[in-house]
Amino acid sequence: MQKRELLYEGKAKRLYLTDNKDLVISEFKDDLTAFNGEKKSSEVGKGALNNKISTELFKLLEENGIQTHFVEMLDDNHMLHKKVDVILIEVIVRNIATGSLTRNLGIEDGTLLPFTLVEFDYKNDDLGDPKLNDQHALILGLVEYQDELDKLRRMARQVNDILRPYFFEKGLNLVDFKLEFGKDSSGNIILVDEISPDNCRFWDVESGEKMDKDRFRQGLGGLAVAYEQVLNRILSK
Ligand code: 5GP
Repeated sequence: MQKRELLYEGKAKRLYLTDNKDLVISEFKDDLTAFNGEKKSSEVGKGALNNKISTELFKLLEENGIQTHFVEMLDDNHMLHKKVDVILIEVIVRNIATGSLTRNLGIEDGTLLPFTLVEFDYKNDDLGDPKLNDQHALILGLVEYQDELDKLRRMARQVNDILRPYFFEKGLNLVDFKLEFGKDSSGNIILVDEISPDNCRFWDVESGEKMDKDRFRQGLGGLAVAYEQVLNRILSK
């Protein structure tokens, strides 16, 4: 499958049309951004690592009954996937308090939450991705019906129920993550975007070491090494 016109360039990926109107190609970039684009850098190999990690995780989720946009990995930096209408809601799933949850609510960093928290952010860089409740999402027309919001929450919890024990077995705590969803050509809500250390937080179970984009956000260094370790643990049986 060949790349055709560039459809869209985001912070971490470029999206290309193909000869098939239902399929597009994502090119995973080495660029890194944080704090709504205010901090920028680039790390050689990061795009390929995220492509490979996302490929493995989409396959795992598909095997466990989650519908995703994934079709196949084409080469190191390219993934073929279904074309969808992206729902402009970032679905955030949290098992352990950190990041904006500790900043916003004063919950101590590292607190194990009494139950898995699912939150919605408005995917809107100009507004800085603000928190959304269900009524906001409906008023903004981000989805049409309440049951679509319920489905996003349900699917996000299912993804967590698959990924959390999977990573724990590999010595990583899945602290929190961000999912995106879209509607395919039949109107089904499916999981889209990527699942990688760019949008998940992984803490080593033994050492507590951060193995995700917080290494860049917090200036810790060693980002590509950490992402490679995440991939190696995924590939180890
Ligand atoms: P927080 O709200 O604490 O900053 O992020 C919660 C989780 O969602 C983290 O795993 C973080 O990586 C992910 N996340 C939240 N917003 C975004 C975003 O706009 N882009 C990316 N790549 N990840 C996000």
